Amino acid sequence: GRAGKALFEAQRVGRGKIITHGGFYASPAAVRDGLRNGEFFLLFQAVIDLATGVAIGAEALVRWQHPTRGLVSPAEFIPLCEASGSIVVLGQWVVRESIAEAANWRRLRRWEHEEVSVSINASARELASTGYGEFVLAECATAGLPPAQVCIEVTETDFGTDAAVVRANIRVLRGAGVLISMDDFGTGHSSLSRLTEIDLDVIKIDQSFVAVIDTQLDSPVADLTIKLAAALDLQVVAEGVETEAQAQWLRERGCLLAQGYLYSRPVAADEFVARFLVQPSSTRP
Ligand code: C2E
Ligand code: MG
Ligand code: MG
Ligand code: MG
Repeated sequence: GRAGKALFEAQRVGRGKIITHGGFYASPAAVRDGLRNGEFFLLFQAVIDLATGVAIGAEALVRWQHPTRGLVSPAEFIPLCEASGSIVVLGQWVVRESIAEAANWRRLRRWEHEEVSVSINASARELASTGYGEFVLAECATAGLPPAQVCIEVTETDFGTDAAVVRANIRVLRGAGVLISMDDFGTGHSSLSRLTEIDLDVIKIDQSFVAVIDTQLDSPVADLTIKLAAALDLQVVAEGVETEAQAQWLRERGCLLAQGYLYSRPVAADEFVARFLVQPSSTRP
């Protein structure tokens, strides 16, 4: 199965062999070098309140400006980092940087929604590491960011292995007020019963179920997810909103939060701040 394949790849990496057509570039040593050389950076995509158009937070999305490969997408290198184990050291960097940025936003923000949060993607391997929850909380303490302004995004597939450690980390995080979000909902290998077993705060509707709203003018899966979130008393965020028609459709069905190119692409922290957090008072809504 998939787990077996990942383990096999990790073992091959461990022996220093090339694992995929992508090559050896995401090995732990390569990622450490990349971090040291400042090759990784974060972009932030605003999470928008559909009723007001105001940003209530942003999702951190990592990029790798690789010396020979150029700008590499996380869709390419994150799976390699997961296979090689380098996701743990990269993930620590992502957590630290994201929390430091959000602590900065807290100081900069000059208008309503004082409590702007940062969403951080966690991989199965990170979530299954003992002490991950404590690490996130320690970074919050160092940066001076209330844990309630951090949201950790997990996926359904993260619950396949080491479920006890994953649950312990989630318990530590939620106990301190960190929000837990189920990313890409509906695309994993899960059941509805699993959803009720995990302590969640947010469900994110995968962008594939938002994309169909334009062509089919309906999305049964998005509709069901909104209803499910309401029934479980969870917040719901729609991903990949690109058109006003999609936003309208979501609003009409009670989905209150969204991300997507309609509002903002992922942008550098400075641009997120300028566009969403420190609007001059003359342009206040
Ligand atoms: P995700 O967490 O589901 O993030 C949403 C992806 O959709 C992002 O791709 C974002 O740029 C893209 N997106 C946002 N709005 C739109 C839209 O309106 N239209 C379209 N077509 N796309 C949109 P990105 O940045 O390439 O990231 C891909 C995936 O890589 C993420 O999916 C996440 O699973 C993973 N990833 C990114 N950063 C990290 C990280 O720091 N750690 C971990 N573990 N995974 C990460
Ligand atoms: Mg995400
Ligand atoms: Mg997603
Ligand atoms: Mg994802």
